Parts: sequence; C-alpha cells; structure tokens
Amino acid sequence: MEIKDEMYEETVRRLKKLGAEPAEIGEVTRVVSVGPLEKLLNLARANSLWPMGFGLACCAIEGLMAANMARFDLSRFGYEVMRASPRQADVMLVCGTVTKKAAPFVVRLYEQMAEPKYVIAMGSCAISGGPFVDSYSVVPGVDKIIPVDVYLPGCPPRPDAVIHAFMKLKEKIINPEVVKKNEPQTP
Ligand code: SF4
Repeated sequence: MEIKDEMYEETVRRLKKLGAEPAEIGEVTRVVSVGPLEKLLNLARANSLWPMGFGLACCAIEGLMAANMARFDLSRFGYEVMRASPRQADVMLVCGTVTKKAAPFVVRLYEQMAEPKYVIAMGSCAISGGPFVDSYSVVPGVDKIIPVDVYLPGCPPRPDAVIHAFMKLKEKIINPEVVKKNEPQTP
C-alpha cells in the first residue's frame, strides 16, 4: 500500500529543495512516510482487534466464551471488545458448524465488515465440516464461502488455543510482507 498524503508531498518538496536525486527521494520518502505509517497502523490494528460476537454451535460456548472469562482473560491482549454489528468488527470468528441455511448469512456478515478484515475458522466443523462432513446440510469448511486467515483445530479448541489463534493473526497483521493476507495459518 502506498500512501501519498500531505506529509508525503511535503517531504518530497523539501527533498527537492535540498537538491536530492529522484532515486534518493523515492528511497527516503518510503522510509520516512509510507513505511512507518503503515507499520504503525498494522501495529495498532493487531493489538486492538474487535471480534464479531456471534456463534454457530458448541465451539462458541466451549471455546470463545471461556476464553473471555476471568480464567483465560482474552482482554489481557486487547481482543475482548465483542461487537454486535459487523460494521464495527474487524475479525470474524466462525465458531461452529456452518449449515447450508446459515451460509448466506455468514457471507453477508463478512461482506458488511469494513476492510481490513480477518477470519478465524474455529473448530473442526468450521474448518472442514467436522463430524458432520457427510451431512447433506453442512458446508464442508467455511473457506468454501469466505477467505480464512487462521485455522484453529479442535472439537472444541481449548480457550488457550483461541488466544493462540489471535496471536497468530496478530503476527500475520504485523508482518504482512512475511505472511501474506489470506494465506492460511494453523496455530
Ligand atoms: Fe461442536 Fe466440535 Fe463442531 Fe465445535 S468442532 S461446533 S465443538 S462439534
């Protein structure tokens, strides 16, 4: 992402005034303007993710809700602000079985989230259909309908594994050049 804001323009103007070569200007402005700003934004995003508060099956109760309680205390990491609206959330945890009936609503909720947005597929049901994979009514993995950033296995995953999944996502957001967005991660 390249941001050409007022600060960028001002930096270029000053460097030209100092007689800098075009190659030098490109290098310096990337360092002083675009690089740190993008890194700073990613750092802020990674440390204050707002998950969407919705669950599809037992994974939501057993894993996600437990991770929010005092024993595991997800809020230590800044991820406890569950939002009831997709427009205020930047990470969707797909917790549980995605039925074919629920699939259009999962897609609609995902589309209503603002960019940048992330998805954690929580539990074997969300990853592959789990024990219901042969059912006529279950989607065999939420990645068939929306892109997934982190796969969190388990039936259900333990609450500390939920925290680990957030840590993986954090790593991915802070280092986009190392781990590209939408490239799956498994804790
Ligand atoms: Fe329930 Fe297991 Fe499926 Fe999670 S993975 S929704 S715990 S059956």
